[in-house]
Amino acid sequence: MTASSDLLSRLAERLGEKHVLTAPTDIAPHLVEWRGLFRGSALAVVRPADTDEVAFVVAACAEAGIAIVAQGGNTGLVGGGVPWGGIVLSLGRLSRIRAVDPLSATITVEAGALLAEVQAAADAQGMLFPLSLPSEGSCTIGGNLATNAGGTGVLAYGNMRDLVLGLEVVLADGRVWNGLSALRKDNAGYDLKHLFVGSEGTLGIITASVLKLYPKPSSRAVGFVGLSSPRTALALFEALRRAAGHDLTAFEYIPRYGLDIVLRHRPALPRPLTGDHAAYALVEMSTTRPGADALGDLEVALAAAIENGFVEDAVICASEAQNLNLWSLRENLSDVQSLEGGSIKHDVSVPLARIADFLDAAIAACEAEMPGLRVCAFGHFGDGNIHFNLSQPVGMEKAAFLKQWGRFNRIVHDIVHGMGGSIAAEHGIGLIKRDELVRYGDPVGLDLMRRLKAALDPHDLLNPGKIVASSPNPPPAL
Ligand code: FAD
Repeated sequence: MTASSDLLSRLAERLGEKHVLTAPTDIAPHLVEWRGLFRGSALAVVRPADTDEVAFVVAACAEAGIAIVAQGGNTGLVGGGVPWGGIVLSLGRLSRIRAVDPLSATITVEAGALLAEVQAAADAQGMLFPLSLPSEGSCTIGGNLATNAGGTGVLAYGNMRDLVLGLEVVLADGRVWNGLSALRKDNAGYDLKHLFVGSEGTLGIITASVLKLYPKPSSRAVGFVGLSSPRTALALFEALRRAAGHDLTAFEYIPRYGLDIVLRHRPALPRPLTGDHAAYALVEMSTTRPGADALGDLEVALAAAIENGFVEDAVICASEAQNLNLWSLRENLSDVQSLEGGSIKHDVSVPLARIADFLDAAIAACEAEMPGLRVCAFGHFGDGNIHFNLSQPVGMEKAAFLKQWGRFNRIVHDIVHGMGGSIAAEHGIGLIKRDELVRYGDPVGLDLMRRLKAALDPHDLLNPGKIVASSPNPPPAL
């Protein structure tokens, strides 16, 4: 019996045979990254039911020297969940909401719970869990923590790191760290949970967490604004922030090309403004203050912005159904790009004061590099985070276009780096940006990351080859 077949027998004995998948058709969906950029390989997909079973699997793999790649919803966008060899540890069965505590405003959930389920559980108690991503129906809390997910609520509530109070983690040797604290104040030594948030499965397997809840807004208003340029978007953001403070809960940027392709591929969604504009912003104000009127506040703020010349046209929704339609325009933007052929993507952030300069410089440089290129630069403008995506020129062969990814990385990432920004704003490093991190990362910071990895996972068995590890060749691109 080989080490791997012996391991699989042990796992099947403990978890039950139907939770150790080896048939090619069963494991196939776990081998491919969401956008289809990489295809990996795995001995098996293993589906433990609880923390004890996760600890058993990790300890058994450590003994056998077999690598583990954790997976939640497999919606990650940097190839972080792609295995090559080893086993996929699928956390989907750890999906319980263990407790909701409105007094301390916390929720305790297992790693495989879907983000949408956690939002619904909070809502059922009259509370808000504010992390919000277009993938929320498929992604898991474990994946959100492991990638330090961002999304549309960061402006008001912060990213996943800001929303976590405690963690339970299975370490590389199979021991369980019980850090499931709900304390708001706890300075007893190093804050270990933050090591695991954003570590993309390379330092430990997150099995449960205590998360922060917030009061549910009593009033919210959503508007769609036509703008002449990124610079007027920045002026509008500044004006709205000044007027609304923390009640400005979203400011999303959509270029004309982005709105055009959403409306082309999702004809059921209504066109929000009659005329064409160079750019658009989806803005949201919401408040928990009793008696406050978000709609009235947004109307006043947008009227002032029109008077000051920042805004060409604007519409404010009159109903929650219209609010959801406007949000659908933004949420469909990621999906519809794939219907326009190959897409080269960059998830970057720059200091807010440079965001208009960044957009002007990067768009000009990319368009000059390849005539016919269609730039779809959109996203969480208020966080300084742009998804700087490039759709292939019409008629170009997709594979030939995707081969240019490195060439455009250099153009976009050099500009970002030169402005003091980050080449990885919210999706993480995974496989796709591993070499970029080495190129742009601070050498001392990289050294610290490698030392942490070596200390917590000395045999390089947890998601090897991702973030900073230097291991065998990546799986072949599709
Ligand atoms: P997976 O894809 O399964 O895993 C992601 C990484 O985390 C992998 O490295 C994996 O090994 C590791 N991991 C997973 N679970 C665990 C665990 N329990 N313990 C340790 N490591 C683990 N992201 C944003 O930040 N903002 C967005 O606005 C956003 N929009 C998106 C829109 C679409 C349409 C899609 C498809 C994705 C989007 N994403 C976004 C990316 C993705 O949804 C998030 O990264 C999400 O947090 C991943 O969760 P998941 O459960 O799918 O994780």
